[in-house]
Order: sequence, then structure tokens, then C-alpha cells
Amino acid sequence: MKTDIVIVGCGVSGLYCALNLPRDKQILIITKSDLTSSDSFLAQGGICMLKSPEDYDSFFQDTLRAGHYENNRESVDIMIRSSRDVIRDLIGYGVEFAMADGKLCFTREGAHSTNRILYHEDITGEEITSKLLAQVKKLENVTLWEYTQMVDLLEEEDGCGGIIARDREGRLFPIQARQTMLACGGIGGLFLHSTNFPHLTGDGLAVCLKHGVRLQNPDYIQIHPTTLYTGRSKERQFLISESVRGEGALLYNQAGERFVNELLPRDLLTQKIYEQMEKDQTPCVWLDMRPIGEETLRKHFPHILERCQQEGYDPLSERVPIVPAQHYFMGGIWVDRYSRTSMNRLYAAGETSCNGVHGANRLASNSLLESLVFAKRAALHMTAQEQNTPEEKTLGEPVWNPEAYRDSRKLEEEYKTIVLREMNPPSGIPLWPFGQN
Ligand SMILES: Cc1cc2nc3c(=O)[nH]c(=O)nc-3n(C[C@H](O)[C@H](O)[C@H](O)COP(=O)(O)OP(=O)(O)OC[C@H]3O[C@@H](n4cnc5c(N)ncnc54)[C@H](O)[C@@H]3O)c2cc1C
Repeated sequence: MKTDIVIVGCGVSGLYCALNLPRDKQILIITKSDLTSSDSFLAQGGICMLKSPEDYDSFFQDTLRAGHYENNRESVDIMIRSSRDVIRDLIGYGVEFAMADGKLCFTREGAHSTNRILYHEDITGEEITSKLLAQVKKLENVTLWEYTQMVDLLEEEDGCGGIIARDREGRLFPIQARQTMLACGGIGGLFLHSTNFPHLTGDGLAVCLKHGVRLQNPDYIQIHPTTLYTGRSKERQFLISESVRGEGALLYNQAGERFVNELLPRDLLTQKIYEQMEKDQTPCVWLDMRPIGEETLRKHFPHILERCQQEGYDPLSERVPIVPAQHYFMGGIWVDRYSRTSMNRLYAAGETSCNGVHGANRLASNSLLESLVFAKRAALHMTAQEQNTPEEKTLGEPVWNPEAYRDSRKLEEEYKTIVLREMNPPSGIPLWPFGQN
């Protein structure tokens, strides 16, 4: 199989990259699962935007403060300055954000000093990603393959020559490409409690480690402070968006006392919650959403309300139990400002990559934006590369050994092991037990 560009992953990064590539290039997008099983579909809270030039400094400082000043300032600047263009693109693709009196509404989340987050109810990710997917499906030059998993990179003398994939029937085959884009998301599948889809197991990181492609900050893992506690493990944890605290929800301990400033950055709040759970010897703490008011709860957070009610808790009349869970990965495959990795002709964007925007801790609602901004930059750079590469740069015979990938279980465990070794997750965070998938 040969193509001009192969994109691994169809969340916002993969889809928006494809939309920004030339129509005369053959593009193949593969996904390990079905088209809608990506974390992009799960994003609830929203997407940040520079709402006015006056907000630049504050947006920049909030991102840096949340990131403990370890952020790459150039990347932060690029993200903020590109935000209005990206939002314009999204609206052009039919994405609907909350509006009032003909103007965009902005909400606020923890660690933001002002309202600057666009949202669509509490399903912003689904709204954005489904509209991007619909646009991609219209493109004749793009092919989408579900249940097709990247198991390795094809490494050539002068860089990346594509990937090796396994299809639904277990068939292994090389996909040769002139440019390769890793948009394969986060690492939640490596943890027992995570808000992520379980099939997101850091495969991009594994193949990069195998080929000596540089990673950055692999130990920067974000735990979300508030996911619904159900008492059931081994399930994707349901996230209760930070915006509910931004809108006034409060946290309580077992004795019914408040114990923390609910708008602390995620890492600090998580730490406080863990400390309280330890002190009280409880598996959770409690979130009271009633201060938000019934009208706003119903209008802004209908899906959170519904899900809590399905689990037997009514946020309109009682506090709901919550527990922290793995949520986001700030580290990843090192990339430069054009989303180029350290391997020639290999790009990465979205949660699998690390351009340093988030520093040591992500500011809420910066992830969708960062993914989109840097996926577009990858696409534009690839386009320029393609223009400078002679058409006759044909792809030779791929060198690969199918036997190395035959035992899928063994390969998965091998990949998980190398990623976790590199990541060295904080102690106390339960990992997904090997041998269970
Ligand atoms: C519950 C939840 C709520 C969130 N809320 C927000 C929010 O409000 N605002 C915000 O900015 N961010 C939010 N985030 C974070 C944000 O959604 C993600 O960081 C972002 O969507 C990542 O996009 P992506 O394209 O990089 O990856 P994803 O959308 O996760 O897509 C990854 C893709 O890669 C594919 N893939 C993975 N491995 C392979 C492989 N080996 N072979 C083939 N395909 C593969 C997957 O199948 C999938 O298609 C939230 C995340 C979660 C989990």
C-alpha cells in the first residue's frame, strides 16, 4: 500500500491536518477503533480563544502559571495568536458555539482569570470533531480506515517511510508514505482509572522510543481532580468538567466541610483531594453543583446532569461523589514549531506530541486549541515539503519483518512496558494490569 501522506488517528489533530493538506495529495487516515472513539469526542468544557487583544497577556500568563512556567513561550504565543483563525475555520465548517444576542458566549474554568472559553453545551468536543469528520468525509482525496492499528514505523535511511499496520482481521502490511503524521492521542489506556478511551495506550510514543525519536517530558501526566466516583474500576471514568467549578460548584469532605479552593490548577487541586481522601480514609470527596443554579445546570451541563442521574445521583438535590483520575498527557513526542519530530518526514500533533505549550500542567481547554493549531502547522509544513520534493522520489521496497508483530498481545505488553518505563508515573496512581485488555 502506498500513499502520499498517512495520518495515524482521527481525533481533532488528524482530521484538521487532513483538511489543511492539498487536495491533489492522496491521504490515508487510520484509526485503531471506530471513527468516533477518540478523546476529541469526549471534550466537554470547551476551547479557549483570544477574545480580544487586551486578553493576550492574561491568557499567556494563565497558561504559564498553570504550566509552572515550564512552558515553551514561543509555542504558547503561536497557540494564542492562531486561536482566532482556528475558531473562524471551525465556524466555517459548521461548528456551533453557544451564542447570546448574536455574540459568542465565553465561559471560565479553573485557573483562568477571565471567561475566554467557547463551548457547545457540555459536549464541545463532539460538536467540533463530528463537524470536522463530516468535512473530511466529503474529501475525495482522503480515505479513512477504521480498526486499523499502527504497530510500527517504517524507517528508511533518510527518515520515515510510513508505518506498519494491522487490520481488523489481523493482517499485517506496510503503508508507505512520503510524509507521516502521528495524531494518536493520549495514554489513558495505561491506567486503571482514566477519563480517556482505553485503546489510547501511547502507541506513538512506543514506536518513537523504538526508533530513537526524541520524546519530551514523558513524566508530565495530568490527573483530573473531578471524575464521577461509581465504585466500579476498569471503566472509563466520567469527567465532571472544570467549568462546573468555574461556574460555582463546591467541594466537600466526608464531614460536609469545604476543604480547598475549587479553582486551584488541576495538579494542586488533585493533590489536596488525595490528601483529604487519605485523611478521611474515603474513596472519594463530594461535589455540590447546586450553587450553579438549576437553570444554568440544565442549560450548560445537561449531559453531566443526565449521567450523574443515571448513576443514581441527582446534582439538583444532592452532592455527588468524585475522585481524581488520569486525564491528560503534557509530555510526548518532541516536536518543533512546525510539529516536526526528530525523524525526517515524521510529524506529530495533538496529545501524543509535546511542543511545550502546556509546560508541567495543562490549563483547562487549551488542549483542543493546541491540537488544532499545531496540526494545521504540520499540514502547512508538509505541503511545503511536498512542493519541494520531486514527484520522482518514489518509495522503494519496504524493509520489514512480519514475524516481529505476529503476536499482538506480546507486542502490546512490550510497548506498554517501554512507555511506562520512560514515563515513570507518580506512585499511588494505579496502572492497568498487564494481560487484561
Ligand atoms: C473526558 C475528556 C474531556 C476533555 N475535555 C477537554 C476540554 O473541554 N477542552 C480541551 O481543550 N481538551 C479537553 N480534553 C482533552 C482533549 O480532548 C484531547 O487532548 C484532544 O482531543 C486530543 O486530540 P488528539 O487528536 O490528539 O487525540 P484523540 O482525539 O484522542 O485521537 C486519537 C486517535 O488516534 C487513534 N490511535 C491511537 N493509537 C493508534 C494506533 N496505534 N493506530 C491507529 N490509530 C491509533 C485513536 O483511535 C484516535 O482516533 C478532554 C479529554 C477527555 C478525555
